[in-house]
Amino acid sequence: MTPITRPGLVHAGDVEREARRLFERIAQPDRWDLEMCRVIAPMTLEIQALKKQRNAVVLAHSYQTPDIVYGAADFVGDSYGLSLKARDTKADLIVFSSVRFMAETAKIVNPQKKVVIPEPTAGCSLADGVTAAQVRAYRRAHPDAAIVAYVNTSAEVKALSDVCVTSANYLEICRRLPESKIVFLPDRYMGAHLRARLPEKEVIVHDAACVVHEAFRPETAREWRASVEAQGRRLHILAHPECAPNVLAEADFVGSSEAMMEYARKLEADGQADVLPVTECGTADRMRAELPNVRVVGACSECPFMKQTDLRSVLEALRAPRPDQEIRLAPDIARGAKRALDRMFELTRPAAS
Ligand code: SF4
Repeated sequence: MTPITRPGLVHAGDVEREARRLFERIAQPDRWDLEMCRVIAPMTLEIQALKKQRNAVVLAHSYQTPDIVYGAADFVGDSYGLSLKARDTKADLIVFSSVRFMAETAKIVNPQKKVVIPEPTAGCSLADGVTAAQVRAYRRAHPDAAIVAYVNTSAEVKALSDVCVTSANYLEICRRLPESKIVFLPDRYMGAHLRARLPEKEVIVHDAACVVHEAFRPETAREWRASVEAQGRRLHILAHPECAPNVLAEADFVGSSEAMMEYARKLEADGQADVLPVTECGTADRMRAELPNVRVVGACSECPFMKQTDLRSVLEALRAPRPDQEIRLAPDIARGAKRALDRMFELTRPAAS
């Protein structure tokens, strides 16, 4: 007889095994100890059972907490990688553990799927920093420019733009665009980086910023470099392009959260390495969990929007999503935003040789 699966009812042995699995992955002094893992294990077990029952997939951004990343998520990554997973998934239900614009992006690229967001009010200072009316004004003022929207924008803004980009592909896509003039929305720092790296094009930049990355200071990076070098080691500073130019100037590498993970993975393959990830704390957490020979230094910064989501809200979204957790978009906005995102996928493909 086929056993009936009842999420919520688990054996003590399963809980202990799951707690130890989690502990091996996410152990951190004073934060994720074995007792904490025993507390969260029944929830992660129920999440895993519900995913099977509902044919659901949980996509989590790197900035989510380690219990979500290692206890609930099927895929973890940056916004570009997750948008591909959302587009290509065969699951019926996508639970997007992140902020709202990313869940909207999942719905736009795969409109047949039900997409739910555990914390529907989780915003973003960049996405909230530009409005559809401002995009229309840019279009009127610069009719010859390509309007390029960073993926950290609302569906309405995407729908009015020519192409979307992410922190993983903005340089590549803007280089490939035929227009010699670009209006870049909404991040002033990423836009400044783009302008510096693409001198052959005119780049007009909107004036919004990420509250997390804007807070980093170059002196802090210099102090950490001096302190590691004083111990006879080399520090690799990896910075996100949402940081200010004077912070990026201190960096050995500039890239998305996933590109930073990849960079650190390569460093680890060559032996032990000291790394300062200048970005949200989730990336440092992932490096500690996944790259034991990478010594992560520095004080990271938490995104208050990303950290609105916790493991319980992911579980509740899987158990019985509330109406406000389901992403619904007006058809014309969804169509327009899909066009801009499809163009991003098109322009990210390797150039034909
Ligand atoms: S880290 Fe910055 S860009 Fe990312 S969601 Fe938070 S506020 Fe937005």
